[in-house]
Amino acid sequence: MRDKYEKSVTLRCVTCGDTELKYSEDKSTIVCQRCGREYPGGYDELVTLNQPEIDREVEKLEKEALKYADVELEKFMKEMNRKNR
Ligand SMILES: [Zn+2]
Repeated sequence: MRDKYEKSVTLRCVTCGDTELKYSEDKSTIVCQRCGREYPGGYDELVTLNQPEIDREVEKLEKEALKYADVELEKFMKEMNRKNR
């Protein structure tokens, strides 16, 4: 579950916050198109630097998922009650 969430979060340049990031051909290095900051650790480095934002996003998505689960459960319970009558 968590992995899926992490992939849906847009990675940003931690210096300027832009999302225009250019991957080198072998994807080992990422360069920000706006401020020119280099991330020699590539994707992994950027994920690490973006971790607080990813955590927030995951938390938000999990809350939404819980809310949805509650609604579904309620529907199910209502259905059960009706059948039992
Ligand atoms: Zn930048």
